[in-house]
Amino acid sequence: MPEPSQTFKYCPSCGEQVFTFPVARGNEVAIHCSSCGLSLELEAEYRLQTLPRVALADDDKFFRAHLTDLLLTRGLAHEVLPASSGTELLTSLTEHFMAGKEVDLIILDLLMHDLDGSGAARALRALERGLHRPRPLPIIYLSGVRCDEAVRHLVARTQPALYLNKAADSTPDRLAHRVEKMVAYLLWQAHAEQAGRAMRILAVERP
Ligand SMILES: [Zn+2]
Repeated sequence: MPEPSQTFKYCPSCGEQVFTFPVARGNEVAIHCSSCGLSLELEAEYRLQTLPRVALADDDKFFRAHLTDLLLTRGLAHEVLPASSGTELLTSLTEHFMAGKEVDLIILDLLMHDLDGSGAARALRALERGLHRPRPLPIIYLSGVRCDEAVRHLVARTQPALYLNKAADSTPDRLAHRVEKMVAYLLWQAHAEQAGRAMRILAVERP
């Protein structure tokens, strides 16, 4: 009989089969990915509608073009603001905020020249506080490598945020499906919070 913590499950964030660990919550036990911390029992309870505007930063121009195309053609976004670095993203976001134009989601590559994803996210959270924005924008961190301690910590410190391994299980169909799932989780979490319901925990740091 395997230990519950040894159970293997598919994680849409990591894009592969992962070990899991249980987290007791009241009388319930939730199963989380041992690599990225995502709750693996979430169901798509949030009906995803096309997002008006998504900002995307990735210094790989081919992947940036690929993901932009995917977001538009799969009906995930009406408009994509592509940036090749963290600084370019922050400039674009500031211009949009100052012009009263909303942005609905940030997709941020972690490894970038100039200003990386981690620095850009922390700067964004500071900018949001400075502008007294009502709530922080949801962030999906893209990475070509497996989730590690530093990424789990970053995700926990910059909520609402999730991690997505862009190198695993990343044929166009699968990547679109996984991005869609991550966006749905993030918006569902934000929706529950705004509606005053108890916020479901999407990802936890491993004890
Ligand atoms: Zn995972």
